[in-house]
Amino acid sequence: MSVWDDLVGQDRVVEQLTTAARAARATVAAGRTSTGAYAAEPGVNASLMTHAWLFTGPPGAGQTTAARAFAAALQCTSPDLELGGVPGCGFCDGCHTVLSGSHADVKYVRTDGLSIGVGDMRALVLRAASYPTGGRWSVILVDAAHRLTEAAANALLKGVEEPSPRTVWMLCAPSVQDVLPTIRSRCRLLVLRTPAAEAVADMLVRRDGVEPETARIAALAGQGDVERARRLAVDEQARARRLDVLRIPLEVADIGGCLAAAQRLVDTAKADAEALAETQDAKETDDLKAAYGAVEGSRAPRGMAGATKELEKRQKSRATRTRRETLGVALLDLLGFYRDVLAVQLGATGALSNEDQRPALGRVAAAGTPENTLRRMEAVLACRRAMDRNVDPLLAVEAMTVALRAG
Ligand SMILES: [Zn+2]
Repeated sequence: MSVWDDLVGQDRVVEQLTTAARAARATVAAGRTSTGAYAAEPGVNASLMTHAWLFTGPPGAGQTTAARAFAAALQCTSPDLELGGVPGCGFCDGCHTVLSGSHADVKYVRTDGLSIGVGDMRALVLRAASYPTGGRWSVILVDAAHRLTEAAANALLKGVEEPSPRTVWMLCAPSVQDVLPTIRSRCRLLVLRTPAAEAVADMLVRRDGVEPETARIAALAGQGDVERARRLAVDEQARARRLDVLRIPLEVADIGGCLAAAQRLVDTAKADAEALAETQDAKETDDLKAAYGAVEGSRAPRGMAGATKELEKRQKSRATRTRRETLGVALLDLLGFYRDVLAVQLGATGALSNEDQRPALGRVAAAGTPENTLRRMEAVLACRRAMDRNVDPLLAVEAMTVALRAG
């Protein structure tokens, strides 16, 4: 299994990245010429390698997976490379340490719900200026680059503008519009596409050992989001959540049902955020104490109170974001359901996203017209927009479920 195997249905991107990794390898092999430019092996175009990359694509298509695989390919030390093997073997020490997150020259910047501050980013830019310890490439992978604060993005711009010769920035974001124009103009853009359900199902069977039928249902329900499909395939709770959401179109017969469904959606999202917080918050608080050398029972070290307050603020904002993301997933599931209803009403052939829900889809389809369905899809989209504007989730969801009911 090479590092590229987890990238589903992205042959073109893999081709571009392996080409770049070969060029990068030639660059390292040749070293600097007297003019300061890099000489490349004959036949390898060194300009195929670039110092800044922007990975974009629909949610779950695998931007971060692609960036991580590329980082591994740049650090790959497989002897097969001498024989023309593809960089990113997946077995050598270089690939292995990159994938496990322990390579000295690959720095992951994860935002996991917390925005990256300008201080962190300045430190990274400084780090980027130093030579890689292993002599190959110093890689800085910024996941969710769209969550950078404005000041942090400006600090990042400095790094991308004046890259040191062996530094590679890899930024991941949903779309180019999510990144400052000044940054994206300095990056080579890679656009991942929505993978086909068959390809996702294949991967679930091959990599995760999922039963073919479960894999097929999960891949379709994931609507192109590989990670979501995987969770649906392996996580019983995620499957139960989805089925719970897909009950809503059958429950909104009266106002009471609408309000109850809305309350349930919002409560579930809150429970998810709390479950995540339980595991993450405690660890972060412990890490912070350890960093300050705090001792149980004695006075808190200088500066710790402020840092604790800052951490709590960030944790609270992450909880809000998790809640919104869980709701966002539920809304996508609902939207997919009504899209399927529309397909049934229009007599479309081919697999639906909710292939396992045929009877329910049939009932909702028979009870309405395509116009009703389009209006309901619009209600779901309106709810998403309201959430983006930070409208109170319960109000937004109630407005939606009530709109799903009417004629
Ligand atoms: Zn390798």
